[in-house]
Amino acid sequence: MLASKQSQATTRNVCSKEPVMSAALRASAGAAVRPFSSSSSLNRLASSHANGSASRTAHSKLARGRSALNVVAMAGEGQAPKPVCLVTGASRGIGKAIALALGAQGTRVAINYAASAAAAEEVAAAVVAAGGEAMVVGANVAKREEIERMFKEVAEKWGRLDVLVNNAGITRDTLMMRMKPEQWDSVIDTNLSGVFYCTQAATKVMSKQKSGRIVNITSVVGLVGNAGQANYAAAKAGVIGLTKTTAREWAPRGITANAVAPGFIASDMTAAIDKKYEEGILKGIPLGRYGQPEEVAGLVRFLALDPAAAYITGQVYNVDGGMVM
Ligand code: NAP
Repeated sequence: MLASKQSQATTRNVCSKEPVMSAALRASAGAAVRPFSSSSSLNRLASSHANGSASRTAHSKLARGRSALNVVAMAGEGQAPKPVCLVTGASRGIGKAIALALGAQGTRVAINYAASAAAAEEVAAAVVAAGGEAMVVGANVAKREEIERMFKEVAEKWGRLDVLVNNAGITRDTLMMRMKPEQWDSVIDTNLSGVFYCTQAATKVMSKQKSGRIVNITSVVGLVGNAGQANYAAAKAGVIGLTKTTAREWAPRGITANAVAPGFIASDMTAAIDKKYEEGILKGIPLGRYGQPEEVAGLVRFLALDPAAAYITGQVYNVDGGMVM
């Protein structure tokens, strides 16, 4: 059912004033991506020391760091292209709050959804009302070809990508002994493989720009496990390993990757939890309440856009009222 709704989904531009390709991307579109490896980077560094150009190398690295800061700092001031952000699963819950938080900074936000087209349109309208620009793009992140189409549509509209937030996620809870292959596969496909393929598509664009920020929404369950969530815990733990690997592989291209691990956040996902478990859950949260989607979105906005986050990569941050410490 999900898939058939998704295949009917179309991309709609909420703000039609935007030129098809920004000047910055036109400039960078022709830039060839050179392959790199840690050993070749070391060799380059060693040879630059040998020929006395170490200080020039250090200086250019410093300049690159500054320019990464400036792209974000000048966003919305007419001096640099407004950052383009793609948030998966942004029609509801945490993803919606993230899209709004990014949009309120004057960015351009692509709002992805799987089935909730009307809800996604409402989020897009709210992003525009908050001062951002928005497009809506339906795609099931469990399907590689839909991911490819989604990134193509964003590139065709805005011509660059500065921020990817891998937020889309599902649960199919049951004890391991009862878990059907469909329950295992659907959660791994959506929550882990989806993050991998979106990251692959995003880094293709970001590496040409030599800048970009990726924020993956994992879960405290990926850190500590949870009875009844073998599929979800495995996927979320996988996202943490993937985040750190992304951070290591892409740092030389100016791309950062971090993960945010929410605890219990009020959303449709937690509304599905049986009320009889709620008292026990709240006892395990030192702050004694569920978090709000906006409390996750605040940290994501910082990691995705704030100049002060430019030097943070490969980290996992819990937003969980003190559940895991
Ligand atoms: P939610 O309210 O259930 O919303 C899920 C969002 O993901 C919706 O926008 C949904 O789109 C989208 N989505 C689901 N499957 C998709 C797919 N195959 N392709 C594209 N989009 C898809 O969930 P949430 O609570 O906001 O959770 C968001 C993220 O935070 C998830 O990764 C979740 O694992 C994580 N998280 C949540 C909590 C929590 O307590 N809520 C805790 C830890 C981690 P449609 O509306 O179109 O279905």
